[in-house]
Amino acid sequence: MKWRKYFRGSGRVLAFVFVASVVWLLFDMAALRVSFSEVNSHLLKERVARERELAKQKPPRHARPLHRASFRGQMHKGAAERETGLGLPNKVEKGALELDKHINPAMRHNQVNKDERLKVRGGAIQKRHSAGSREVAKFAIENTKKPFKDSALNVSKVGREKGDLAPPAERTAQTSKVRRGRTRDSPREAPVHTPDLSKAPPGGREEQVRSNLNKGDLNDRYHFSRQKTQEPNDFVKKNKAFFDARFKNEQLTNKDEETEEPAVKSDLKDGVVGMEGQQSSDPVVQTTPGLKLVQKNTNETALVGVHPSAVHKVMLIDMTLKPRDSRALGQFGQPAAVPQKDEREARSRWSEGHFNVFLSDQIPVDRAIPDTRPPACSESLVHNDLPTTSVIFCFVDEVWSTLLRSVHSVLNRSPPHLLKEIILVDDFSTKDYLKEQLDAYMSQFPKVRIVRLKERQGLIRARLAGAAVATGEVLTFLDSHIECNVGWLEPLLQRVHMDRKKVVCPVIEVISDKDLSYMLVDNFQRGIFKWPLVFGWNTLSEEVIKKDKLKDSDPIRCPVMAGGLFSIDRNYFYELGTYDPGLDVWGGENMEISFKIWMCGGEIEIIPCSRVGHIFRGENPYSFPKNRKKTVERNLARVAEVWLDEYKDLFYGHGYHHLLDRSTIDIGDLSEQKQLRKQLKCKSFRWYLENVYPELDAPLVRAQGLVFNQGTRKCLALEKGSLTFDICDLAKQSQQFNHTWIWHIRQGNSCITPNTSRNGIVLGPCNNSKSLLQWLHKSLIFNAVMVDHLAVDISFRRLCLEASAQGDSVHLNQCNPSSPHQKWQFTHYYVN
Ligand code: UDP
Ligand code: MN
Repeated sequence: MKWRKYFRGSGRVLAFVFVASVVWLLFDMAALRVSFSEVNSHLLKERVARERELAKQKPPRHARPLHRASFRGQMHKGAAERETGLGLPNKVEKGALELDKHINPAMRHNQVNKDERLKVRGGAIQKRHSAGSREVAKFAIENTKKPFKDSALNVSKVGREKGDLAPPAERTAQTSKVRRGRTRDSPREAPVHTPDLSKAPPGGREEQVRSNLNKGDLNDRYHFSRQKTQEPNDFVKKNKAFFDARFKNEQLTNKDEETEEPAVKSDLKDGVVGMEGQQSSDPVVQTTPGLKLVQKNTNETALVGVHPSAVHKVMLIDMTLKPRDSRALGQFGQPAAVPQKDEREARSRWSEGHFNVFLSDQIPVDRAIPDTRPPACSESLVHNDLPTTSVIFCFVDEVWSTLLRSVHSVLNRSPPHLLKEIILVDDFSTKDYLKEQLDAYMSQFPKVRIVRLKERQGLIRARLAGAAVATGEVLTFLDSHIECNVGWLEPLLQRVHMDRKKVVCPVIEVISDKDLSYMLVDNFQRGIFKWPLVFGWNTLSEEVIKKDKLKDSDPIRCPVMAGGLFSIDRNYFYELGTYDPGLDVWGGENMEISFKIWMCGGEIEIIPCSRVGHIFRGENPYSFPKNRKKTVERNLARVAEVWLDEYKDLFYGHGYHHLLDRSTIDIGDLSEQKQLRKQLKCKSFRWYLENVYPELDAPLVRAQGLVFNQGTRKCLALEKGSLTFDICDLAKQSQQFNHTWIWHIRQGNSCITPNTSRNGIVLGPCNNSKSLLQWLHKSLIFNAVMVDHLAVDISFRRLCLEASAQGDSVHLNQCNPSSPHQKWQFTHYYVN
């Protein structure tokens, strides 16, 4: 009975809770004092056990939902960002963290701090671009044989002599100059430092290469682990013909007699890479019979057949599920930290890639990452006869370890029969390690080819060079600092297989630039843009999700793609005329290809069952042969001119007026691109806005209607070819004017034009590039006290439109903030 009194009354309870908390805290601190290696090893053992358990059952689920980081948007600082406000901080969480939270409070404590840091991180906003040179390669639209015409690209096959990788049939000369410029130089935050988890595995870059090259007995098997409820071998038996056909010269063998898990010998040795002193592990391929018919809508009914041999469950291929070194830094996508003693070095190496290069170099190139797919994904069915793909990585001065990790993630997690090849396109990198050393390293993987460009071409033309030599049926473009997650490939190929005009993107997850942890992102995100062609992410509204009964695993249609990662039917890519090869270095090409795809009959989708992590960097780590800002602007102007029709003024009108002056900017020849659009019979941009992206606010003018003058209390009118005033009358066509995005005051094809010699006003033809025709109005760039004025800059002087005292004519005068004769009002305004 004694103990009862301690529990009487709420005060006692509180006291008890307090004492318990103190005790818990003491335990916590004690735990922290324990050797970290002991703690870590314990944790990791548990984690490995748990991972294995999960691998046996089903793909693990991790924390979600999260906010999405931007990718490849034109998120550079400037008009774009200011106007659209798309540079939102994007919160992300670490997929793998959940595991730890169950394990140890000390660890949990650490992670909370790291999570906090992440939230403050401000989002992994990317900029993008693509460089290149002035001369435009000519692309025959109708030619589907990859007509990459560019002698400067001088595509060479390095590293491997074997294989059927014949050079492209047609390749002719294109000369282009290498232009050098400065990289962007704004400072980045220092790398994260936390004192624990600092046990880096020995061996830097060179050791890794050596050890990997010395690996003789690479594992060349993978096995099917089936679900317990299913018949042993059932799937493999039923699909023997399929596998026989796919895996030439391979035999079905029983790997594990006890569990009767069938094993299929394959050429997977491509993908197995052990770290120094570690044992390569068996890759795991998990697939399930029970081939249920999936019937989502009428389109898909025909494609997902009932025939048991026609489809199979997405394969769970992950050769890293049994990691060779579970204690390695960053294993399982966990955050890593720089030991204090190495902080200086880590900091100094940041600029090599604009992420934590020091840490990356210590994380295994074949690390495991958490399976972040929605649960339904592992159950979804795909066709047995999916097309093969060529994976194309372009890179310029990519960090060694991230490039390798990208390649291994493809080799380790792609069904070998679907991976035709990996093409590495070296866009004239300057780093020595990307030459012979890379050749030597990649020579152990028969599927990897290296294409070297003889001049810096930029992302767009580098991709085209890769596509030109690709032999797979589908092209899959990836950045060179990514990690493909389990099951990433089949869902992409399935959609292309269903409809060759579908261009599909994986969900782009976030690999932290600071601690290299793998973080999953929000569901239901789609790629969009705002003016002036700024890429961003947008979460589908609850209403849309409900109305369309969308599941988290359903494909999401995107008005534009982020651009870095996508799969496209190879022939379709050429039918579309590929990219505009006149786009330089980086930037705008995601807009270009997106408009082209939608307006010319295709579709863009994000496939939530396909997930690929990407290191979002604050800056481009490579040089721009020309100024970065100018390169991107120029690319965007090309896109606007070719694809936006009458809406291109919205692009120029959102901070890009200066691009209209073609005497200072040369956007190159557009005739081929315009011709292509005609030939393909592509739809109008208006159609695109109405059907693909109706949510976009796209008024064709800034203001319109009557132009009322405060002083005369009359409206401007165009009568008999000259400007005068009239009693305001909405019904009169002569009083209707537009204030356009490029600041013209216009009626029909006539623009209000200053007569510079006599401060008079005339009506002249509208000419986009004449700054003389640009009337500032309601513009903050102007003067807050003169927002109602209509002002024009003539020879560095700013003058205002003024109604005469008699109210019968208009002229220019010195701007006077208080003069009512200089104050004007349009009937409708579409801009604030
Ligand atoms: N890239 C290239 N040549 C260039 C610029 C970029 O090959 O001139 C490669 C780069 O190495 C990367 C990909 O193109 O693999 C996309 O570039 P980045 O990652 O900088 O774009 P972001 O992800 O920032 O949009
Ligand atoms: Mn990138």
